[in-house]
Amino acid sequence: MNINFALIFFAIGVAFFFYNAAKKIAIIWKAKPENRFDKISTRLKSLLIFGFGQKRVFRNKIAGVMHAALFWGFFLLFLVNVNFASEILFNYSLIHLLGKAGNAYLAICQITSAIVILSVFYFIYRRIVTKPKELTLDWDGLICLFFILGLKASDLYANTFATNQNKIYAEYGHLLILLSFLNYMPFSKYLHIFLALPNIFFKSLKSFGYLPYFDVENEKNLTAENQKDFCLTRFSWKQMLDTFACMRCGRCDAVCPANISDKSLSPKTIIQKLNKNLARKNENKNIISSNELWNCTTCGACQQNCPIFIEHLPKIIELRRFQSMIAGNLPPETQLALENVISAEGQIKFGNPYGTQKEQKEDWTKTLPFSLPKIYENQKFDILLWVGCGGASDSRLQKIPQNLAKIMHNSGVKFGILGKEEICCGEWIRKIGNEYLFQIITRENIEIFKRYGIKEIITFCPHCYNTFKNEYQEFGSDFKVWHHTEFLANLMKRKKLHIKSKDFSMKNIVYHDPCYLGRYNNIYEEPRRLIDWKICANIKEMGKSREDSFCCGGGGGRAFMEETEGQKINDIRLEQLLKSDPDIIATACPFCFMMLDDSLKKKNIEDVKIMDIAEILNL
Ligand code: SF4
Ligand code: SF4
Repeated sequence: MNINFALIFFAIGVAFFFYNAAKKIAIIWKAKPENRFDKISTRLKSLLIFGFGQKRVFRNKIAGVMHAALFWGFFLLFLVNVNFASEILFNYSLIHLLGKAGNAYLAICQITSAIVILSVFYFIYRRIVTKPKELTLDWDGLICLFFILGLKASDLYANTFATNQNKIYAEYGHLLILLSFLNYMPFSKYLHIFLALPNIFFKSLKSFGYLPYFDVENEKNLTAENQKDFCLTRFSWKQMLDTFACMRCGRCDAVCPANISDKSLSPKTIIQKLNKNLARKNENKNIISSNELWNCTTCGACQQNCPIFIEHLPKIIELRRFQSMIAGNLPPETQLALENVISAEGQIKFGNPYGTQKEQKEDWTKTLPFSLPKIYENQKFDILLWVGCGGASDSRLQKIPQNLAKIMHNSGVKFGILGKEEICCGEWIRKIGNEYLFQIITRENIEIFKRYGIKEIITFCPHCYNTFKNEYQEFGSDFKVWHHTEFLANLMKRKKLHIKSKDFSMKNIVYHDPCYLGRYNNIYEEPRRLIDWKICANIKEMGKSREDSFCCGGGGGRAFMEETEGQKINDIRLEQLLKSDPDIIATACPFCFMMLDDSLKKKNIEDVKIMDIAEILNL
């Protein structure tokens, strides 16, 4: 009779869980289709490394180890839970069937339970005492920790200390806690126990920061009345799954430059707000404020640091698309920069955000001791040097193409420029969400490249590089693109790089990794190799470098926006770089150059210089 009661109780508990879980799954199921079932072996490998191996979790040393102990402990103790259920429901011990192996397993489980209990105490201590800024300190986290504590304490008691009579009570207690926890989970952040591994398995295998195609001809995309309707039309099932899988660990907030500089942007909160508002019927259909959206520099640190591969960037840009194309809500200074490039109707104006006249776009070439072939003069060359809007317009940045051109010329590379025919690549226009104008510019550029038979492009701007390499393909581009550090490192490898001279005296250089070069395109070594070669020594590494680099504050269209909230991101980054006490801060991105140079000037620091790698090589 008792057993029947337990069985009914167990069945009802499990059924309730499945009922509530099914409601969540239905929301994900109804979202836009997207194929994430490709490259299964790559996906399984990621699952092994990042899911079961917890690779990203370990970035946070102590909390990472403790989380891994909890995670692995859960797996190891799974059979104990099944055994408890079997003993209570069927009076049958599965583990004792295993004989000596079963006893050994139970002994390991006792140690594991003790470790899991220790981890739980650590996490409770962290929530109540140390309270890191990035953690959401709500009851949900604590309730779940107490559930886990109850589960593991009853495990340990039943298998270690309890008499036969008490053991059965401990097992009943365990089952009761398990069913309560199971039914609490669909409403808590601990839903990630079920969703984290699938989320890792279905992670994006496209280029970092890949943005879903937006059909500007499709009216449905442009008729949404509010953010909520827009997101529900645009988000794929994986974007929805992300919002349910988030475990609110705050690792994204901890590395977000906007959040660190006290601006109103928390990538974790964005995911949480989307989850709450997209999944429920409510009045507030404009979910994320303009400030939150425009504060993002698209540096991608959040996405790179998320242990379960939640994709923040496509969601933020999708919401910016609504702001830009439907709500018409751009910061005024950005609107001006945009109008300098192209009119709202799609007519190219100056073709650059600075308002530089066509005739002035070649001014930077005037100081060169040789003349550069221009494409419109029908001069033949092998590779196009893409100068970019900043390189052609800003006197500080003009040094970059000048130095690069000299190196390429001296190294015997046959290259030329578009000159007055060059227009913006559209990168930042896409990042501020104006997909309509981005696509016009993209098609215009592809048409120019095809008309002149351009097959290879070299650019010193990682933003142009990323757009050409990873975004233009979807619109029919067919050319190879090099970042100048890649190109020069390749020349160096082939012993064809000719620079003025090596310099043994330049030792005090620190390198700032631009987000769009490192994080987006995994180019970390080439810039370092070039500097090492020039100075005949290994460059100094700073703490926040490579994958852990910190944004300069200029990405995502932020270079064309006022920074009115919180601290300036470029000041924070400069402080980090100055800790290495450098004479030269090297970088390989015109946006980073400008942002860091602005900060240097503001602080009146004259004994430190910001230099692009091309300039350093040419010293
Ligand atoms: S998005 Fe990822 S890193 Fe951020 S809180 Fe959620 S799980 Fe943690
Ligand atoms: S992309 Fe960078 S700035 Fe934007 S939310 Fe993520 S970490 Fe913050």
